[in-house]
Amino acid sequence: MPGLYIHVPFCRSKCGYCDFYSVPGAGEESMDRWLDALEAEASFYRGFRADTLFIGGGTPSVLPPDRLARLLSLTRSFAAGGTFAEATMEVNPGSLDRDKADAMAEGGLNRVSMGMQSDSPRVLGVLRREPGDVKAAFRTLREAGFGNISLDLMTGIPSQTGGELRSSLGAALELGPEHISVYPLEIHGGTPLGEAGLAEEPDGAEEGWRLASAELGKAGYARYEISNFARPGRECLHNLNYWKGGDYLGLGPAAASHFSGLRYTTVPDLGSYCSALEAGNQPPRSALELLSPRQRAGERIMLGLRLAEGIEASDPIFIEFREELEELLSAGRLEARGGRIALPENDLYVCNSALARFV
Ligand code: SF4
Repeated sequence: MPGLYIHVPFCRSKCGYCDFYSVPGAGEESMDRWLDALEAEASFYRGFRADTLFIGGGTPSVLPPDRLARLLSLTRSFAAGGTFAEATMEVNPGSLDRDKADAMAEGGLNRVSMGMQSDSPRVLGVLRREPGDVKAAFRTLREAGFGNISLDLMTGIPSQTGGELRSSLGAALELGPEHISVYPLEIHGGTPLGEAGLAEEPDGAEEGWRLASAELGKAGYARYEISNFARPGRECLHNLNYWKGGDYLGLGPAAASHFSGLRYTTVPDLGSYCSALEAGNQPPRSALELLSPRQRAGERIMLGLRLAEGIEASDPIFIEFREELEELLSAGRLEARGGRIALPENDLYVCNSALARFV
């Protein structure tokens, strides 16, 4: 069953490393215009049904409670069987309060993903990211009834020490979330950090990832994807559908969609998005691409191998890549175990060159 993604294109301010599409400091008038356009866009897909919902951005928690309620009521008609098996929204600790958390719970969300990145104000300063009280926001979410919360942490931040990463891991674990993601910092040209000449630290990122894997493993969080760790049964269903090559519909500017090998991205521009829908048209799409069967199989292999469980060895997607598969298996770059093909545990992080064979 497919997933539904909604892109909320607003943030309070722009973090120094961010290359996601979002408009910083937008007012309620812009939010209302976006919501009107989103409702118009949704009306083109009345027959679409999804098992999972993911509201990302941007920072969805900058929306006031009444706009959150409006957004969530729009999503409900898409839920297969009346409710989503999993309905997640991203929040930042600095823009969440109890009224918003209540609106989220009442609107049908059952999972929250909170951007923590680090517990060190110094490190957040390097990232040029607005600090927030993660502990208070986490407590607010629990009090509002959320029993499934994920925290995002970051490694490979220039000048971040092992002690600072350990402290962030400890602070996250102390809260007892159901899920933790650990991503390496990427620095893209055109972002303030890129323009300031800061460079990625791949060695630091890998070291940090190994430290996080060990600490989280000891604390009972199993790694089920390269960057994602969960308590048993708390893996993110929406993202699992994505890694397994499933279909998803994205609504909102900059949202990506995928249907059986056809994929596209909606224009990352709020003004063009709203104007098109106000005129009764679909918003402009970019990167429209119909994958060939070989490209599709290759993409499914690359995504599937990100999962710790890998891919069933008998999956027909390997037919197109039999030669590459044999080569990687005999070189020990891939492993066959329990009827499945997977990356060796120790190679999970440095797997890019193996995965590149399936392009
Ligand atoms: S809060 Fe997230 S989306 Fe917004 S600027 Fe920061 S990293 Fe980008």
